Amino acid sequence: MDYVTLNNGLKMPILGFGVYQMRDLAECEQSVYDAIQAGYRLIDTAAVYMNEEAVGRAIERSTIPRAELFITTKLWVQDMSYDGAKQAFQSSLDKLQLEYVDLYLIHQPFGDVYSAWRAMEELYEAGKIKAIGVSNFASDRLVDFALTNKIVPMVNQIELHPFHQQLKARQIMGEYHIQVEGWAPFAEGKQNLFQNKTLAGIAKAHGKSIAQVVVRWHIQQNIVVIPKSTHKERIEENFDVFDFELSKQDMATIAAMNNDERLFILHEDPATIKSMHERKIHN
Ligand code: NAP
Repeated sequence: MDYVTLNNGLKMPILGFGVYQMRDLAECEQSVYDAIQAGYRLIDTAAVYMNEEAVGRAIERSTIPRAELFITTKLWVQDMSYDGAKQAFQSSLDKLQLEYVDLYLIHQPFGDVYSAWRAMEELYEAGKIKAIGVSNFASDRLVDFALTNKIVPMVNQIELHPFHQQLKARQIMGEYHIQVEGWAPFAEGKQNLFQNKTLAGIAKAHGKSIAQVVVRWHIQQNIVVIPKSTHKERIEENFDVFDFELSKQDMATIAAMNNDERLFILHEDPATIKSMHERKIHN
């Protein structure tokens, strides 16, 4: 496993396992267990995924020492306030059955993110969180956030895949020493990623799959990558990426696939913001 070093010195695995849309909790538990068995040490969940208990059960079942795992969860919009963040964090800890989390992220840039960050800074300073960060922050918001707060976020988790490579955002994150973590590395299969001829050609040349090429492409750019799968063989396949290297030409070929197209959420759309505020995950 390779690691990146966050701006507070914490080491974070460069390859992790995402559990978005794992609504079947037994399947989620088994998938996380399989992932840990396959060698993954970073697990990425969120309060809004409604599966933190299943992740916690899988962690408990695995025999890996807690210190070797890197657990991420995220604060939902409904709880975006100082008191809300404190309560929601404790609720996540209880569900995960953990004493601390390695990374706690503001899931969306909506609600009172500045007050929530105060609470997260306190939890970080108390040792309950090893690193704090944000997700889905566009560069303008991210820079303002970094310049306003005492603690600069350690991570920004954003949509990132060969069709949307986020070059400008990554450059700015680099300037502020904020680690880039990509979500939806396979674009969830959209745009026929798993049938893409360019990627298939590169994969064939290396005796690897398209999924492996895409994961490797992230790693070689120092982007933390968190592919999701509920199939054991794919979970293992997506982790088996440390025995080959993409050439400069391969990297350039994939770079040319970028069309800066967001395939999921338009964060500046008022309807998106309203629906995120309306999404409740508890009473
Ligand atoms: P993704 O990892 O890009 O794609 C997952 C899809 O690819 C699933 O349909 C999966 O199918 C399929 N797949 C996985 N490995 C495969 C393989 N080797 N061959 C063929 N198909 C394969 O999508 P994602 O889950 O949206 O993103 C990854 C993680 O990022 C999430 O799980 C979550 O942790 C995080 N995320 C964060 C945000 C945010 O707002 N911060 C948003 C979205 C996602 P099967 O499961 O059926 O194998």
